[in-house]
Amino acid sequence: MITTDNDKFYRGTQFQAFFKNSSRSLVLKADAPIFTILAVSDTYLSLTHKQRQQLLGRGLFEVFPGSAGDPSEQNSVHSSFLRAIATRAADELPIFKYEIHVAETDSHVTEYWTNVNEPLLDDDGNVAYLINTTTNITRQLVTEQALEKTTAELQALNEQLAVTNQDLVFVNKQQEALVNELTVAKQNLQLERDRLNRFFMQVPAGVCVLDGPEHVYELVNKEYQKLFPGRRLHGLPLLEALPEIRGTAIEEILNKVYTTGETYEASSSMVPLAYTPDGPVVERYFNFIYQARLDTNNQVDGIVALAFEVTEAVKDQQALAQNELRLQEMNNELAVANRELTASSEQQAAMNAELIAAYEQIRLSKEAAELGTFDMNMVTGHMEWDARCRQLFGISHQNKVDFEEDFLARLHPDDMDRVRAVLAATFNKLVSNGNYDVQYRTIGVDDHQVRWVRAKGQVYFGPNDEPLRFIGSVLNITEQKEDDQRKNDFIGMVSHELKTPLTSLNAYLQMLQARARKTEDTFTLSSLDKSVNQVKKMTVMINGFLNVSRLESGKIHIDKRSFDMADLVKEVEDDSIATITSHQVVFAPVVESYVVADGDKIGQVINNFISNAVKYSPLNSTINVACETVDGHAQLSVRDEGFGIKPDDQQKLFDRYYRVESNATHIAGFGIGLYLCAEIIRRHEGRIWVESEVGKGSTFYFSIPLERSTSS
Ligand code: ADP
Repeated sequence: MITTDNDKFYRGTQFQAFFKNSSRSLVLKADAPIFTILAVSDTYLSLTHKQRQQLLGRGLFEVFPGSAGDPSEQNSVHSSFLRAIATRAADELPIFKYEIHVAETDSHVTEYWTNVNEPLLDDDGNVAYLINTTTNITRQLVTEQALEKTTAELQALNEQLAVTNQDLVFVNKQQEALVNELTVAKQNLQLERDRLNRFFMQVPAGVCVLDGPEHVYELVNKEYQKLFPGRRLHGLPLLEALPEIRGTAIEEILNKVYTTGETYEASSSMVPLAYTPDGPVVERYFNFIYQARLDTNNQVDGIVALAFEVTEAVKDQQALAQNELRLQEMNNELAVANRELTASSEQQAAMNAELIAAYEQIRLSKEAAELGTFDMNMVTGHMEWDARCRQLFGISHQNKVDFEEDFLARLHPDDMDRVRAVLAATFNKLVSNGNYDVQYRTIGVDDHQVRWVRAKGQVYFGPNDEPLRFIGSVLNITEQKEDDQRKNDFIGMVSHELKTPLTSLNAYLQMLQARARKTEDTFTLSSLDKSVNQVKKMTVMINGFLNVSRLESGKIHIDKRSFDMADLVKEVEDDSIATITSHQVVFAPVVESYVVADGDKIGQVINNFISNAVKYSPLNSTINVACETVDGHAQLSVRDEGFGIKPDDQQKLFDRYYRVESNATHIAGFGIGLYLCAEIIRRHEGRIWVESEVGKGSTFYFSIPLERSTSS
């Protein structure tokens, strides 16, 4: 072996101390194939479990023969040395397995090594030394392998994770798709709702959607709002918006639809509702449908209400029904009326028949009685006379007749004033009540014949008591009058003839009375008194007949003068006091009341009233005489407490020869007294009448006009 200076350097103490702590392993002399070890690091010693002196100065392959086993082998340390010398560049061996003998345990351990050989050049540029770095990488390798394993596991895990990730992504995507679908569905739902809302809003009927159990107005279309103009609905619970619904059937129905989900339909149903916010609650009629609205879980969450107001139609219908009813009633009434009409038609026909019969009877009666008729329009003065009436006035022409010319002017001059007076009374409702009954003579226009006529008629008055119509009949009583006349003449003649012997009889009786008084022949005297009385009665009777006769023949003379009724009554009173002892005759005081009348005749009337009262009332009963002024008349009355007179008889008392049956039987008389009274009063344009009640008494009255100057 050649030792150089450089060898010395490496072998020197300083370098050895330095290299001792090096991370490199060996410094070798490039003296192939020996490769002498010049310096060794502590790391290498611990790696190789050798002592430094075992190595320094010795050939490497001498110390470690195993590693130089096959110098050709590519991976041997030896070949690496050679390549590093040849190439003058560091050469690194791949990791190699190395069996090492461990002296302490006499065992082999497998270890893995790395080996790097770096050439060190000499001044000539040849490789003089090699620095070897041997690193036991067993632990590193184990760690690496563990790392690798972990990495693989990690890898696997990673891969699994990747798969899971992919799954997750897939799931995510699915979810996303679902979410998308949901969103689309939601959008569609919203669209659907919007569309439905739009549809609802445009439906030509009232539509509303009531939300929740409180039925809050969620949607109100125009038509629905129109049902309640001005009332706030939207957003309010139904019972708040329409409080008048509370307690009605509607509240119950809505709650039922909400709880059961069953649809409710109603037609022409009455709901009490107001139109406007403060308007009155009125009966309104609706056709409506309440349908439950379902949420996505098929649970009821509201009500869709469709309402259509039919109040007008219902009212029309009701009115129609009522009209029909009324029509029916009217029809019924009409039917009844028709039946009545038919009945009344039949009645009328019957009445017509009766009327015709009555007319016929009247015609026949008229024919039989030879009655003439007259009809006068008191307003126009137009007068209708039938043929017989014309005949009675001796008129042969068929022209219109005139009240003045054909009637009044044709009366007998003696009757003219009387008839005018009667007519005046007849046309005055207050005086006569329109009753007309008069007898007069006419002098024929053409034949100049005198005829006696009895005319009976009636005047009809207007609302102001004005005479409107005057109708009546006339009867020819000429014959009857002539008979009466003859009778009267006879009575007159007989009465007159009787009067003369009666007067003589009375004179003789008075003479006999004087003689009997002298002889005091009481029997003769009383007989004579009675005879004189009877003669007196007879004289009165005969005078009555004479008066009637005179009256009838118009020979009675009324001598009118002005006098005070009070004086006349006084005279009558004095007379009665002297003559009447059987009764209490009481005269009431009379105020001054002048009349223009025949005092004797009026006195005769008063006396007649008083003597009748005496005749027809019980002994000692009271008779009241009074004379008052009433309505411009002097009204005299005589009241008794007698039998009284029946109404039927009252009418006839003043007729000639009339006597009331029962009374007349035992009381003397001929029924001419009141007749004469009536005639006298009639001739004074007065009135005579009686008021009487059977069993209580009678009051006879007459009244004659007061003299103008005193009557006012
Ligand atoms: P006379 O008395 O002579 O019969 P009058 O003409 O005076 O005739 O009377 C007619 C009738 O009227 C009488 O018959 C009598 O029945 C009735 N009469 C008259 N005055 C009264 C009287 N005061 N009370 C009851 N009846 C009377």
